[in-house]
Amino acid sequence: MNTSKYVVVGAGLAGAATAWHLASRGHEVTVLERSTPANEWGSSHGSARIFRYAYPDLGYTRMVIDARRGWDELERLSDRRLITPTGSVDHGSVRRPRQLAEVLQSAGVEHELLSPAQARHRWPQLVFDTEVLWHPGAGVLDAETTVTTMVELAVTQGAQIRTGWELSSVTRSGNGFRLTSFTGEVLEAERIIVCAGGWLPALLSELSLPDAFVQQMPSLQVRQEQAYHFPYKEAREASATPWPTFIHLSENLQIYGLPGGRDAQFQGQKVAKFNGGKVLPSARAQDQIMDESNRQQVMDYVTRYLPGVVPEPYAETTCLFTNTPNEDFVLDTVDNITVVSPCSGHGGKFAPLIGEMAADLATGRGQVPEIFRVFGRHQYHQ
Ligand SMILES: Cc1cc2nc3c(=O)[nH]c(=O)nc-3n(C[C@H](O)[C@H](O)[C@H](O)COP(=O)(O)OP(=O)(O)OC[C@H]3O[C@@H](n4cnc5c(N)ncnc54)[C@H](O)[C@@H]3O)c2cc1C
Repeated sequence: MNTSKYVVVGAGLAGAATAWHLASRGHEVTVLERSTPANEWGSSHGSARIFRYAYPDLGYTRMVIDARRGWDELERLSDRRLITPTGSVDHGSVRRPRQLAEVLQSAGVEHELLSPAQARHRWPQLVFDTEVLWHPGAGVLDAETTVTTMVELAVTQGAQIRTGWELSSVTRSGNGFRLTSFTGEVLEAERIIVCAGGWLPALLSELSLPDAFVQQMPSLQVRQEQAYHFPYKEAREASATPWPTFIHLSENLQIYGLPGGRDAQFQGQKVAKFNGGKVLPSARAQDQIMDESNRQQVMDYVTRYLPGVVPEPYAETTCLFTNTPNEDFVLDTVDNITVVSPCSGHGGKFAPLIGEMAADLATGRGQVPEIFRVFGRHQYHQ
């Protein structure tokens, strides 16, 4: 039998960030990971996620500003580039570029509002039919390298990581907890931080959480998202205007795209339909099979709106989305168990901040935004 004061369950972006913060504050911490850090069955694999400041809500934009300080610190400590600057364009009637511009203005984030014609002139590789918000501070974050970097930093500062250790159940034992794996291993801990991503819904009832907490949890919907890489017609370096990340939302479209990363050989734009993947009964039900009609919808979009790429994907991937009804994260603690669920398709950019907040909660200091708490969570829509 083993003991550890803090146990973090899961080594995706959230768990790795929490372990990094706990270890760097000098705490004894063990990370349990059912597979390997940033594995392909979770949400943090691959090398490309959008880092952007544009949110319809000032609170989130301010959180990105705070998170950016954490990214800078991570890049400094590791001497690795984790966010590649690209800038970002937001467009479409539902995306409301003008409203986003007002939020960025209030937060002091550099931006420009362009007419469709101005935007088309600047980015001939894209088609726009509404005003366009451009903000140059956006970029592409390398999720997988970020996870391994944070795990390495945590281990350097004394954290232990156990891979292939899948938590099956938690029981209360004395002042702490007894954690048991599916293969019968046992670990004792004083405090637990559960960062299990899309596996959380199935695990909730096994964590010895108070019934009232579990009942108050927002519902968590798990989806198998699909993303495709489309080759650039012009090599990225030869392109007159560098490819930005983009979000295009209108009445009948929910599409985002970003320059593909290392796993797509930096040769194309990664494009996906937001919440276009199938809803799963649990993370375990993933099959990584691409849905033909989803692929066709994205190809149709690309044909119409992305003239700068060949509308035939050269690579594709699946990933787990874990959605709350209003896309706010879950970050709360009760009786020494902290539950962390920062996904809904946009949690990656906050990773260093989420880790800091989770470590604060677990150690009994600091505050997290009320909208993330389970008790007293007020209704709020982005
Ligand atoms: C397709 C896609 C696109 C996205 N795009 C963006 C974007 O552009 N910008 C952005 O900011 N965010 C984006 N996100 C969201 C971001 O990637 C997630 O917020 C983030 O990866 C969530 O990390 P996590 O640690 O909560 O979950 P995960 O990365 O899933 O980590 C959970 C870990 O827990 C482990 N685990 C689960 N159960 C157990 C158990 N019982 N015992 C031990 N270990 C366990 C899993 O193996 C896994 O490694 C996107 C997500 C997806 C899927």
